[in-house]
Amino acid sequence: MEDTIQSCRDHICGTYARLPVVFERGRGCRLWDDQGREYLDFLAGIAVCNLGHSHPEVTRVLCQQADILVHVSNLFYTLPQTELAAELTRLSFADKVFFSNSGAEANEAAIKLARKHSRDRYGPGRYHIITMKDSFHGRTLATLSATGQEKVHKGFEPLVDGFTFVDFNSVSSVEAAVTKHTCAVMVEPIQGEGGINIPDGNYLGDLKALCRRYDLTLIYDEVQVGMGRTGTLFAYEQDGVAPDIMTLAKALGNGLPIGAMLASDEVASAFVPGSHASTFGGTPLVTSVAARVLKTLSDPAFLQRVREVGGYFMERLGELEDRYSFIREVRGRGLLIGMELDLPGQKFVERCLEKGAIINCTHDTVLRFVPPLIVEKTDIDDFIRILDGVLREETT
Ligand SMILES: *Cc1c(COP(=O)(O)O)cnc(C)c1O
Repeated sequence: MEDTIQSCRDHICGTYARLPVVFERGRGCRLWDDQGREYLDFLAGIAVCNLGHSHPEVTRVLCQQADILVHVSNLFYTLPQTELAAELTRLSFADKVFFSNSGAEANEAAIKLARKHSRDRYGPGRYHIITMKDSFHGRTLATLSATGQEKVHKGFEPLVDGFTFVDFNSVSSVEAAVTKHTCAVMVEPIQGEGGINIPDGNYLGDLKALCRRYDLTLIYDEVQVGMGRTGTLFAYEQDGVAPDIMTLAKALGNGLPIGAMLASDEVASAFVPGSHASTFGGTPLVTSVAARVLKTLSDPAFLQRVREVGGYFMERLGELEDRYSFIREVRGRGLLIGMELDLPGQKFVERCLEKGAIINCTHDTVLRFVPPLIVEKTDIDDFIRILDGVLREETT
């Protein structure tokens, strides 16, 4: 373990503040480190492994497809890519899909498409995009520029031009920020990195009405909250308000790198041959796996169970909220849950790890719980016992 950690520090860019554990193996909701120690994984690679680690069906499809065809250029057609796109559009508002390899790249495609769509209609100059404070859209230059967090910008100026930040959950702030240069509004239906912030009442509906009034493209970043995480396949379904463009990534491949930008025909028609491309986007390998993942994540009975288990988890966390005065709020949907504290959260993350449970902290004070969606109530009971012990230490 010490050797691996030292070697990592010697040879890998120091962009991550890593915790001192070397993982070797995973199964379901559990991980094992190189000392053979078992952990309960309530982070799932940050909402990535929604079907858990080493899901037998996912592994079977992965191995089978690897034996048939891994990659050909997007200069040609392949069946797995086509089938996945057909399913994603059947199950969503969208008509067209562009495949990428990550969330940031899916958002890059969304930003480019929104600009191009507006330019085709209105000519140059109308390219500004309104995004939210405390949002997170990725680490490439355009997506970090779209991200409403100063700490993500710092050191990389000049940023990509044309992003304006307004308060989440305030349609009037969006309206105040609209100018003749605005072409789109980009929002996470639930903010993930910003601290699990839930939309108020009819926020998304009012936002869409505003977008229609000014002919702005509405973009949802569902990279974190999509793919069954909130108890519906896409988070927006619970608000009943469809966007014009939506991005997906994290859980789409259950750990294989794949992202997707989905759009209505009206908007997507702005992309023509040569507008955009990706060498690896939508290879037969990743799309065949994602199609298998999607099959389970879109099953109504599976989603019903996510809502039920999520409700149970919320209930159990509510008991802790009643017990500890420094817990400010527990909030979330499905199995995307945040526990906001009056204190910095990182030490609780470290203490949980010592006791064999993996979580993380976002927005400094919010403990984030995003277990695999296959989590059992007994796993939740085990986790609550660990978390309760860790929180209790704070009071003694
Ligand atoms: C993780 C995340 C991204 C970035 O995804 P990458 O695959 O790391 O590029 C973008 N948007 C949201 C909401 C995310 O949670």
